[in-house]
Amino acid sequence: MPHDLIVHGGLLVDGDGVRRADVAVTDGVVAEVAPELDPAAARSSYDAAHRYVLPGVIDAHNHPYYADDIEAFSLAAAAGGVTTLIPFAGRQWHGGGEHTLVDTVTEFVANGERGSYLDFGAHAIVSPGDDMDTAVPALFERGIASFKAFTAFPGNRMLDDGRILALMTMLAARGGLCMVHCENGHAVELLERRLRAAGEVTAAAYGRSRPALVEAEAVYRTLSLAELTGCDAYIVHVSAAESLDVLRTFRARPGPARYAETCTHYLMLTDEDQQRIGGPAKISPPIRGERDRDALWSALRAGEIDVVASDASGQTLAGKRPEETNFFDVPFGLPGVEHMLPLVLHAGLHERDTGLPALVRAFCERPADIFGLGHRKGRLRPGLDGDLVVYDPFPAWTIGNEGLHGNSDYSVFAGRSGFGRPALTVQRGRTILREGAVLAEPGAGTFLPAQIGEQR
Ligand SMILES: [Zn+2]
Repeated sequence: MPHDLIVHGGLLVDGDGVRRADVAVTDGVVAEVAPELDPAAARSSYDAAHRYVLPGVIDAHNHPYYADDIEAFSLAAAAGGVTTLIPFAGRQWHGGGEHTLVDTVTEFVANGERGSYLDFGAHAIVSPGDDMDTAVPALFERGIASFKAFTAFPGNRMLDDGRILALMTMLAARGGLCMVHCENGHAVELLERRLRAAGEVTAAAYGRSRPALVEAEAVYRTLSLAELTGCDAYIVHVSAAESLDVLRTFRARPGPARYAETCTHYLMLTDEDQQRIGGPAKISPPIRGERDRDALWSALRAGEIDVVASDASGQTLAGKRPEETNFFDVPFGLPGVEHMLPLVLHAGLHERDTGLPALVRAFCERPADIFGLGHRKGRLRPGLDGDLVVYDPFPAWTIGNEGLHGNSDYSVFAGRSGFGRPALTVQRGRTILREGAVLAEPGAGTFLPAQIGEQR
């Protein structure tokens, strides 16, 4: 039986190392991985000589929102070499009106089935007013096992400790995962009020309103509540060195799983970039100093950061209100999924010495395992989905604001240069991206229910 596709001659990368191996895909799944396969024994073949072959890349944190829906966002992701998305769905972002959280997530998944270029899972955001007792069991039945809570943004997003404890208790009983945005919302309010009153409303003042301490305090509290309830916890967008210290403290003793994620902008930018770019780079937590950035790279190298994700949304320059002179009043969020992979791989290989296996763990293996997708995604292994990225380490690039995919019209990384790009990406045996052109169709992606209780 001939294979559908053989990718031959490349260097295969997994979390353990790099080796010469060829990959055969048949009927959408990996059929064979071997030191040498005959390309003539396949209906099609791809010569990956002088290139790396990685498992499909998962962006486990993103918001198809503002100018993007999942169709537009997944197009930008596909253009950047990503093959699987796990976006957030929540009532304030995708529902509204009389929608319940269950309706919101159900509709979000249906929209994805209709429009997504890429396979996708979903996380649910629990907001104040959501009926958790109904939503959590109902969403588990639909394959949603990761739920996000905010300790920031009092009012429409922040859950108090009692609600977080109740959510964690429900998730712990079902083998689910609590993802938490960690910033002490009341402390931020106090600091912001003081700065506004003093007329300090620049990007630098914004950074001072959300110092590392408000993040690290919320990480400590979240991990304490997780330990008390026995709930596995995932700290989204870790930005501060102090938060890594807290993670180490908790990980040194027995308890539930404690996962950590950081994002492209915390690895690639500093507060100086934030001030130079201004409103278009406003995000929370804020982009911090060089010391924090170095600490994040060290933690990524050491495997203390589990996942790198984009936290991208479909923001536009107009949506960031360029006329706004008070930085506190600029809307949150930035695009960036399209450049995540080349930026982080370039920096990891040429500036930060992480090696490719550490990056494959953070982009492929860990997100698949943590979010219950390891039975299909994350590795090039017979029986798993035929998803892969052929990465050409040589082409030079400079990021600009032109030629972007999706509906965002700028990049906070504009002006940055590097080497390497995805030359070919494949999902379930179908070509998604080839030499810069997206060949997939909207709606080709399929929803990936989380396998509950799968080993993380
Ligand atoms: Zn986010």
